[in-house]
Amino acid sequence: MPPKPLVYNATLVERVDLTDALTLFRVLPDDRPATGWFTPGQYCVLGMNNEARPELGSVRRSMSIASAPEAPGPIEFYIRYVSKPESDNPLTHLLWKLRDGDRLYMRPVAAGVFTIKDTVGDDDPRLRVMVAAGTGSAPFVCMVRSELLRNPQADLSRYVLLHGASYPSDLGHRDELQGMVERNGLRYWGTVSRPQAGDGWTGDTGRVEGFFAGDRLADLERRLGLAPGEFLPTRAVILICGLQGTIGTTITNLCQRGFVPDHKRMREALGVPAEAPATLFYEQYDTEPVIDIKDPAVVDPLKAQLAAGLARLSGS
Ligand SMILES: Cc1cc2nc3c(=O)[nH]c(=O)nc-3n(C[C@H](O)[C@H](O)[C@H](O)COP(=O)(O)OP(=O)(O)OC[C@H]3O[C@@H](n4cnc5c(N)ncnc54)[C@H](O)[C@@H]3O)c2cc1C
Repeated sequence: MPPKPLVYNATLVERVDLTDALTLFRVLPDDRPATGWFTPGQYCVLGMNNEARPELGSVRRSMSIASAPEAPGPIEFYIRYVSKPESDNPLTHLLWKLRDGDRLYMRPVAAGVFTIKDTVGDDDPRLRVMVAAGTGSAPFVCMVRSELLRNPQADLSRYVLLHGASYPSDLGHRDELQGMVERNGLRYWGTVSRPQAGDGWTGDTGRVEGFFAGDRLADLERRLGLAPGEFLPTRAVILICGLQGTIGTTITNLCQRGFVPDHKRMREALGVPAEAPATLFYEQYDTEPVIDIKDPAVVDPLKAQLAAGLARLSGS
């Protein structure tokens, strides 16, 4: 039996196509409290019925909210068209057929604990280093937008947003984020993994998780005004959002600095002492294992690096 048809309860008021495969969907639910019904970092469920192939029924998927809870008007989602879907009824293929004014389903409640309150805690003074690949920037854009709507003069210098994409045009919200750099001290760097001759890109290149490897970590420390070796859980907490590769490699790169992932089975596999607080949090968009914690060839070196990192921290 295919999933039951959904009753549409929201309108796509505007879509903004950043590229062929990256679009901002601005969705207005029929019944919604004016503002403040979710926390930055949370997601909603969007859904559609497959009208061209009714035998497939409906499909629903989680999508992070990019607009701030304080913003009146539609809810913004930043969505990638998945060209090689895993299911036979991919939501993104239905969403891409929508035009402004079309109807869809949006569960009128938000969910998720990838929020500042539920991760580092609202009062934590450390740098909030936000690592995003592709549309994984959505929850972070929501967080900084929310800060600014509460206080347009807010000092955003403890937010560090590292955003990776294939091409410069894939770096969604870039102009808005650059404005926050200039006006509010946001630390934001986009990095492009496939720069092309003539695309005018003069910024960072390579994948976003590369910021935490070798000389690039030393460079990041310089940019953040930290002394060499000071990029540590005492100074920063890490929030990552996106696909498995970004999350897994960021964790792997940062074990030697003593960053502890907030994941019970990974902590156990990596031999993290129960009292060591988590300092690396993530929201994963796909279902691949982040790190193969059953493979000793993967886990053993990480375990040793993390133990050394934690020992250095407790001695410092
Ligand atoms: C909490 C949460 C929040 C999410 N927020 C967003 C969001 O803000 N924007 C967004 O674009 N997606 C987001 N996703 C992913 C989204 O839910 C879907 O998995 C994705 O849109 C693909 O759905 P589909 O039905 O088109 O394809 P399906 O055939 O259902 O394929 C799903 C599979 O596609 C792969 N996939 C998922 N996302 C991507 C991606 N971005 N790029 C490449 N491959 C991918 C994964 O392997 C996933 O298992 C989120 C997922 C979760 C769990």
